[in-house]
Amino acid sequence: MDEEALVELKNFGKYFTIHKDIKITSVEKLNFKIVKGKTFGLVGKSGSGKTTCGRTLVNAFPPTEGTIIYDGKDILDMTYREKINLRKKVQIIFQNSYAALEPHMTISEIIKKRIDIFFPARCIEAQQRQMEKLLYFLGFNQSQINSQIYQLADDKRQKIDIALALASEPELIVCDEPISSSDSNFQDELIYILKSLQEELGLTYLFVSKNLSAIKDSSDQIGIMWSGILVELTNGSFLKGNKVHPYTKYLLANRTQQAVRTKVKPFLENHTVASKKLGCPFIERCSFSMPICQYIQPELTEVEPHHFIACHLYA
Ligand code: SF4
Repeated sequence: MDEEALVELKNFGKYFTIHKDIKITSVEKLNFKIVKGKTFGLVGKSGSGKTTCGRTLVNAFPPTEGTIIYDGKDILDMTYREKINLRKKVQIIFQNSYAALEPHMTISEIIKKRIDIFFPARCIEAQQRQMEKLLYFLGFNQSQINSQIYQLADDKRQKIDIALALASEPELIVCDEPISSSDSNFQDELIYILKSLQEELGLTYLFVSKNLSAIKDSSDQIGIMWSGILVELTNGSFLKGNKVHPYTKYLLANRTQQAVRTKVKPFLENHTVASKKLGCPFIERCSFSMPICQYIQPELTEVEPHHFIACHLYA
């Protein structure tokens, strides 16, 4: 039986106009589901479009093409009130977003303030209980709640960010690179905390990252993006097999992100030209290319059950 989707992207495309005739293609024809209570990892280099997916969901922005279905409802058909409600249900944690926190506020003040924004009708006692529960989940004790933000180490501030994201009692949290910003010990702790919260609260996650290694073991499903399209859709176990997209292979190889950046051209294209472009978008980086790759763009195809790859090697 199919698992229930919380979010479904159908032929989702998003373009941004930067001049009257020039559009940046951010993503095109994306199709995937994020299952309730599970983690979807979206991986790609900067400019691949992965962040656009997360931020479109968080802000309930309309897609340029296609649809986004949230809990069975197209976001384009939502009323104003439903969209406001969606913003409560979908929260985001950014890399270093704690830098925006007011440094002289205490932990309790900052969290109570956020709870009050989302639940102004709740009495002071209920808000206090909610705050204590959040801090307990994140490993803070009673004696720490009056610490000021500037007194906290980065790992504690990152936990405050998570608490703030949880203050609206969300269903879906978009984690936009929070893991890659931390040292490896804290990465493990952060993953442990996020997974425990998922179990406890039934949360659904969209992990967005440049670093496949950082999220592959904690994601139930993984989407690999290149130049605004999905080139592979799989779960972690398939990444150990023989059928893997050449770009995924590259990400899995132990290469530094610096090496990736220097090998990849920025993705800035006139949409009209992009839509007419022939061939595989990865061809200039691919050491497995064949003549067909120059003329025909490969479709995302199921190469084995629940494993999809867009590459002529597996057609
Ligand atoms: S379709 Fe061809 S160029 Fe594209 S990734 Fe596959 S082998 Fe490489």
